[in-house]
Amino acid sequence: MRKIYIAGNWKLNFTQSETKSFLEDLKSKVKNLNSNICVLVHPSFTSLSTAQEILKNSNIHFGAQNCSCQDNGAFTGEVSIAMLKETGVSSIIIGHSERREIFKETDENINSKLKAIRKEATLTAIVCCGESEETREQGKTDGWVEKQIEAAFKDIQLDISNIYKVVIAYEPIWAIGTGKTCDSNEANRVIKVIRNKFAKIYSQDLADKISILYGGSVKSSNIEELLKTSDIDGALIGGASLKTEEFAGIIDKSNNLLASTTA
Ligand code: PEP
Repeated sequence: MRKIYIAGNWKLNFTQSETKSFLEDLKSKVKNLNSNICVLVHPSFTSLSTAQEILKNSNIHFGAQNCSCQDNGAFTGEVSIAMLKETGVSSIIIGHSERREIFKETDENINSKLKAIRKEATLTAIVCCGESEETREQGKTDGWVEKQIEAAFKDIQLDISNIYKVVIAYEPIWAIGTGKTCDSNEANRVIKVIRNKFAKIYSQDLADKISILYGGSVKSSNIEELLKTSDIDGALIGGASLKTEEFAGIIDKSNNLLASTTA
């Protein structure tokens, strides 16, 4: 059974003190998690040490929203993987559509970041992909995500020893922050396309093992429908991960669903 991830992406939100009160509240709401669920939050760089302090000895993990592919040097404003590792992160999101669109990150940049993360055996990379509304309307979604996956994983060595340290998030751009969730059957269909592409690059065995998440206006009212599909292994969540009640509700529903299917 693949691991289920419920991962919050906080984007440019929450100071250190806001992070502290949010996580204390969340911690008090999240109890007795199924061992197959991994709950993650991704605060801003400046709040990572606060997350480390509040989340120690808890079942909630945390990660970064971005990283540099460089180890050190003249790269003003960048944060290296070694720096992130010392803050205790367990995951790093790369290739988010906001990084691609606003900050002009290319497929090659994302591939370089994935190569850098893979040098650290303990870190999980969450690799995002997804099509724009225009690409979807042109009927080019499948080819688009296949191309993104091929580029992100170019020359990345994966096998049974490290497959659990890579997660893919399918996030149709038109569904991010818009309230327009992708229909669960359609999200599942595209995720199968991604899984098949992954099988062609690596093997069916690794493709069957990698967790692929859906992201785009996920909330507590639609998480169950998404998780009931065959291939959606969790969610990357923006807006709803900024409200403790809502995020805890998503976690709770995922946990209960898993308990009922594994019972
Ligand atoms: C995201 O930013 O990754 C995201 C999915 O945002 P939202 O849940 O707000 O659509």
